[in-house]
Amino acid sequence: MTGGVVIDSLVEGLAPVTAFADLVRSHAHEWDAAGGYPAHLLPQMRELGLFGLCGGDLRAYALALEEMGRAWLSLVPIVNAHSSAVWTFEHHGTPEQRDRWLPLLATGARLSCLGLTEPGAGSDLQAITSSGHREGDDWILSIEKTLITHAEHADHMLVLVRSEGEDAGGARALSLFLIDREQWVVERRLPKLGTLGVETCRISAHTITVGADRLIGAVPGRGFEQIMDALEVGRLAVAAAAVGVARSALWRAVERVRERAAFGAPLSENALVRHRIAGMTTRIAAAKGLVLLAAERKNGGGRHDAETAAAKIVAAEAAMHAATTAMELGGGMGYTEELDFARHLRDAALFLAGEGANSVLEPLVGARTTAGEPDLAWI
Ligand SMILES: Cc1cc2nc3c(=O)[nH]c(=O)nc-3n(C[C@H](O)[C@H](O)[C@H](O)COP(=O)(O)OP(=O)(O)OC[C@H]3O[C@@H](n4cnc5c(N)ncnc54)[C@H](O)[C@@H]3O)c2cc1C
Repeated sequence: MTGGVVIDSLVEGLAPVTAFADLVRSHAHEWDAAGGYPAHLLPQMRELGLFGLCGGDLRAYALALEEMGRAWLSLVPIVNAHSSAVWTFEHHGTPEQRDRWLPLLATGARLSCLGLTEPGAGSDLQAITSSGHREGDDWILSIEKTLITHAEHADHMLVLVRSEGEDAGGARALSLFLIDREQWVVERRLPKLGTLGVETCRISAHTITVGADRLIGAVPGRGFEQIMDALEVGRLAVAAAAVGVARSALWRAVERVRERAAFGAPLSENALVRHRIAGMTTRIAAAKGLVLLAAERKNGGGRHDAETAAAKIVAAEAAMHAATTAMELGGGMGYTEELDFARHLRDAALFLAGEGANSVLEPLVGARTTAGEPDLAWI
């Protein structure tokens, strides 16, 4: 089968997800304006298998996240943060942890959020100061995290802490634990520009006790390596969602320029307008191709940080370009909250920082490329 046919059959298999996305997209404007949490959509998201999808073909996962991004970006962080826990348990959990947690997490019966960023450390995760130490068979954790999405509604949090003494050395001193909702306090919600349907919060948990069975992989000091692996899948998800936002902005712009006339003709017949539309289309096509390619490579296992970072960089740029171009083509009304253009732009801005800023990911791609890594020889 050629790549195109494989993608077609994946898209066909995702028809129920696309139907769901179409329905959500038709209400996204009103739901986003209301700013409420989409609790009413969770049962259908569970039924569609969205919470365990990262455990299968990552191209299907990427296409599904793209559909969520096309529908309403607020749904994406709920699935993406949770998928970090599913991925981590599946690939780094002990057999007992996999048996206990995967049936709950992969079905979405329990939802997890992801606690990495701290007031003093975001891009540089090795600088986190949340800590854990052993006491008998248990671990005592003290946690301060910020910008944690879904922190009010999730049942669990996969949390990165410094598990040995300060001098144990950056990456080797970090561990991942799964903690329960009643163990952390939401200090406050952070008002933000976009993704208004899901909360992003500052949280804390002081001197909480967790069993040794909550340490992912049962061996301390592996958290950084584990989360870097999961973040590759996170970058794929965010890149795919960026393609989705860009697609939504593109098609809203197409509708608008078809129905709006100026200087005696529909805007869609103006050569410059078509040039602007073509710029959106080509960037989206390039980003989508790269996301699927990165997903295919990650499907084969191993480290694919450069490919997933490249996909995130290109897709984030495509989304910002599409959202600003669509707003421009929407004219004055494009700037108002009467139409979808403003929401697309507010949502697309998440890709500037979320799941790694482009200016943090670029040096990573540059370092891997200049090292002449054989994995990247296909480029
Ligand atoms: C809406 C939203 C939701 C989020 N949800 C979560 C979540 O659920 N869980 C979670 O753990 N985190 C979450 N985050 C945090 C996000 O992952 C961080 O914002 C991101 O990793 C960047 O970290 P920072 O904000 O500390 O930026 P900083 O590290 O302070 O960096 C600021 C800027 O400096 C530049 N910069 C930094 N380092 C370099 C470098 N080495 N080279 C070049 N430029 C550099 C970049 O432009 C970067 O954007 C969320 C963020 C947002 C906006």
